[in-house]
Amino acid sequence: MVQTASLVIAGARVWQGLGKGFAERDLVIVDGRVSDRAGVETDVIDATGKWIVPGLIDAHFHAYAYGVDQFQNERGPLSYAAVKGAERLGAALRRGFTTVRDVAGGDIGLKRAVDRDVFASPRYLFTGPALSQTGGHGDPRSEHVDVCFGHGHMCDVVDGVDALRLAVRNRLRTGAHAIKVMTSGGVFSLTDPVRVPQYSADELRAVCDEAARRGTYVTAHSYSSESVMHSIENGVRCIEHGNLIDAETAAEMARRGVSLVPTLVTYDAMGRRGAELGLNSISLAKNQEVLTKGKEAAATALAAGVRVGFGTDLMGDMEDEQLHGVRLQVDSLGAEQALHSMTMANAEILGDTAIGHLGIGAHGDAVILDGNPLEDFSVVWAEDAQRTVVQGGAVIG
Ligand SMILES: [Zn+2]
Repeated sequence: MVQTASLVIAGARVWQGLGKGFAERDLVIVDGRVSDRAGVETDVIDATGKWIVPGLIDAHFHAYAYGVDQFQNERGPLSYAAVKGAERLGAALRRGFTTVRDVAGGDIGLKRAVDRDVFASPRYLFTGPALSQTGGHGDPRSEHVDVCFGHGHMCDVVDGVDALRLAVRNRLRTGAHAIKVMTSGGVFSLTDPVRVPQYSADELRAVCDEAARRGTYVTAHSYSSESVMHSIENGVRCIEHGNLIDAETAAEMARRGVSLVPTLVTYDAMGRRGAELGLNSISLAKNQEVLTKGKEAAATALAAGVRVGFGTDLMGDMEDEQLHGVRLQVDSLGAEQALHSMTMANAEILGDTAIGHLGIGAHGDAVILDGNPLEDFSVVWAEDAQRTVVQGGAVIG
């Protein structure tokens, strides 16, 4: 999106950030940015009695994951994935997500379409295809399938230090915001136990070295304490999921300044709807392993002092559960921390100082709510809640 409209939203109570609550003030947006002075011919919305939060951020989104069959997503036409991705992005924006980070997939073409306002979308940051070792979480082949796999739309199988350096450089050359690696087994992949660490220390260090030299970071899909420790000891700065981490691992994450992006809703949704949507029996069994523990992990990390963000990781038709993810995060962390996760904490993880808050100079991205979310968060997540989404000062219809 390149919305740069001007707007005054008058009379509402505006979120001031963690520990500061809400304060009544006019939210003035000039040419897309929050300002302390209104322009001359600015539209005014009377929002007396309403509550305003910064536009929400989903730090674990997959535009291209239009189905629950990983192999199909990887091998179908990219043009179809991109058009479906546009549809998924538009739906996320209407729910109040004004920024998403795509951590497996996306490319510079989709981003260019977003930036040129070809379709309504959250601000879009992408990692390009996630890096996976052979037989790792990004390898969609079962043990019975003997075909080559590489250059998928969402994941790419790359082994060895030199090949990984090349793969990272190519992603950064073509507009990737950060690098995503798979450092443990996962639910959708068929041959890798969830707990087992993936990639050698040498390989991970090469990936993190290339990213750091370019001024960006590496985030890792990782579930268990052993795989998370392996990741962060070798330079990974952010952990996705982390469902099986213990308190000791969380403390080490905090000590090293490593962030966590929990994705609570994906396991909940897969548990309820996976079978009906055609998810295979191996993945359904693996999902059970991480479902219950995930709810505790986010709280464990927060208690240890880890920066805890927010992500959804929804595949296929389950993407309509994004706001249910908001509800689960509130259940896990409480309303104020959850709101912080979806705004400022995620902004810090993404390294963007102009999102996640509504201070002077921030992007004019906001959601106008009917009530106080700290008292009743259903004003954010309920399907029938009256929300007005504003992006760059433009009201999203
Ligand atoms: Zn994911």
